[in-house]
Amino acid sequence: METLQVEQESKELIRRYRKLLRYAKPMLKDDDSRQIRKAFNLALEAHAGIRRKSGEPYIYHPLAVAQICVEEIGLGTTSIIAALLHDVVEDTDYEVEDIEREFGGKVAQIIDGLTKISGVGSKHESGQAENFRKMLLTLSQDVRVILVKLADRLHNMRTLDSMPRHKQLKIASETIFIYAPLAHRLGLYAIKTEMEDLHLKYTNEEVYQSIIDNIRSTKEVRDRFIRRFTRPIHQELSNQDFDFTIKGRVKSIHSIWEKMKKQNIPFEEVFDLFAIRIIVDVPEEQEKAVCWHVYSIVTDFYKPNPDRLRDWVSTPKANGYESLHTTVMSRTGKWVEVQIRTQRMDDIAEKGYAAHWKYKDSANKKESGLEQWISQVRELLENISSNAADFVDEFKANLYQDEVFVFTPKGDLRTLQYGATTLDFAFDIHTQIGLKCLGAKVNQRLVPLNYVLQNGDQVEILTSNKQKPSEDWLRFVVTSKARSGIKNGLRDEIRLIAEDGKEIVHRKLKQLKIEVKSDTFNQLTRFFGLTQVTDFLYRVGKGIIEPKELKKFKDASEKKKISTRPSNFTDARELGKLITEKTGRDDSILFLGQDLNLVDYKFATCCSPIPGDDVFGFVTINEGIKIHRTNCPNAPELLSKHGHRVLKAKWASDKRESFEATLEIIGTDRVGLINDVTKIISNELKVNMKSITVDTDTGIFEGRIVLYINDKKHLGELVKKLESVEGVVKVNRIKDK
Ligand code: MN
Repeated sequence: METLQVEQESKELIRRYRKLLRYAKPMLKDDDSRQIRKAFNLALEAHAGIRRKSGEPYIYHPLAVAQICVEEIGLGTTSIIAALLHDVVEDTDYEVEDIEREFGGKVAQIIDGLTKISGVGSKHESGQAENFRKMLLTLSQDVRVILVKLADRLHNMRTLDSMPRHKQLKIASETIFIYAPLAHRLGLYAIKTEMEDLHLKYTNEEVYQSIIDNIRSTKEVRDRFIRRFTRPIHQELSNQDFDFTIKGRVKSIHSIWEKMKKQNIPFEEVFDLFAIRIIVDVPEEQEKAVCWHVYSIVTDFYKPNPDRLRDWVSTPKANGYESLHTTVMSRTGKWVEVQIRTQRMDDIAEKGYAAHWKYKDSANKKESGLEQWISQVRELLENISSNAADFVDEFKANLYQDEVFVFTPKGDLRTLQYGATTLDFAFDIHTQIGLKCLGAKVNQRLVPLNYVLQNGDQVEILTSNKQKPSEDWLRFVVTSKARSGIKNGLRDEIRLIAEDGKEIVHRKLKQLKIEVKSDTFNQLTRFFGLTQVTDFLYRVGKGIIEPKELKKFKDASEKKKISTRPSNFTDARELGKLITEKTGRDDSILFLGQDLNLVDYKFATCCSPIPGDDVFGFVTINEGIKIHRTNCPNAPELLSKHGHRVLKAKWASDKRESFEATLEIIGTDRVGLINDVTKIISNELKVNMKSITVDTDTGIFEGRIVLYINDKKHLGELVKKLESVEGVVKVNRIKDK
């Protein structure tokens, strides 16, 4: 190494370190700067002689991460120290204990968290999921772990150029998969956007470059438009002595590209390429009034689109975002989005969580949306039961969602993910309420479980102790809390029913004098065409498989088996005849499941049939009978060339578990009618109700009930019972759905 270079590097290092201190200075108290210096020296010594892939001294990296923490996230001394030391434990001989001794427990805990999550995004799906979970766990301990981690990741993305191609792709995809959504959720808008843009740069450079070129070449026209558009607003705000700035903000490259892809349009046709942002500097107590005042000035000049007004000033988003958005018509006939906010709101919008803190004392607000979110994360993590990968998918889906605001009957505001239904709301209140949820009254009207909540709805959940979770619920809930609640509930439910089933089977087998051996339940399961013993027991418990059907199993097992050893048969007709003889049926059809004890067969691996598929048996030369689906790719050849080897086959039990039916009930409205109707449905006949909608506006009761029934007989019984309810005039099954 030449002396000149070393000298330049140490000069550069000092310059960067001084810059860090300069930015941090307003936040420093007591001996903070001494501690920062100590951390810097330790990092410098620990990484001495090490260089990054780019050839730069390693210490540049922790220094840059610390700089991001201060300048772009607004974090203080503890985080700066943690950032400076973030790679020390992982990459050098220092231990967490050393850090704790030198810098105290808080810093050590953050470093420990950072070291633990460093493997996030490993190759294996499950490993990745597990790491993601770990990351969220540390988030709920101290959010600064994630914030420093985000700064670390941002710097790595900024310096991705020197990495080999496969590493670039790996790091970039982890970033878009986990870190950008997290940054979004923590309100770090600028960092999220930069991460997304860099992801695009490294995964699709051509597109990235062309969008940049397009933005550049259209800049002049755009700037002129913005100048003209904002001129009257500018004038009026000045006249009224506001302290303000107006900016024209171009969308991020990533979001332009997303638009182009989604709407399948070229760059030129992305109409909302930019937004106008008006930032006013006013004391906090005047914020709301001033924002609306500015809104009124803007709309004095330009007509607003009433559908596009977004008021996140009165009710901030859960990630802390506050702003007043409107879309107005310009004089050239172009819709323009205008964002109105105060300096404080702008700070929070750009820097998120940390900036929020900075303002917190003065705001004396209740629990912020973010804190609510973090406590939700914590709760969710404590309740995880199923596989981690599922959890990650659901959780990630939650990170980007917009919200809907609704009220409890007492008037408390609750924020849910956009698209949330009555059932999501019920689970949000409490898992037990979700599991027992029957429907709800929204703004005094009865609505079904799958009603999609609207902003401002007041929701009162109706529960019943008879209610049970159903698989179908998963189709219309959107929050991860509801999903995992339902899944856990279903598992419990299935287990309980299967236990009932087991008792029934034991009783029946005793009655049939069948000795229960270790394999009996497996044999029964196969006999009924199923693969899982629990599934079999569940069906018995639910009454889908009736106890009397167990007799068929006995009959079948008493018959002597037909040998299908190779060379015994080459002609399926002979085999069919034998089956007819042995079973006393006259159809020459192999009943899968039921005939298992009579004939051996295997399922063809080329098409793996499952119960309910159309199938046929094929007598092979060496491997006995194989069952294929009729739409198996090999079927045409088998059926056309070797017709004599084809054996008709059917599933012995392809009873559907249940099917959906919609009933329309008409009657005269009276108090308690709904109660009587639902009682019959859920108590007496044990039918699962999917939804119920009732309209009683005119004194006539008109209800529509969607439910699950097992067969037509079941439905007939139900209709008869419902018709006998006092006040009910007519019950119809309707075809719609
Ligand atoms: Mn690092």
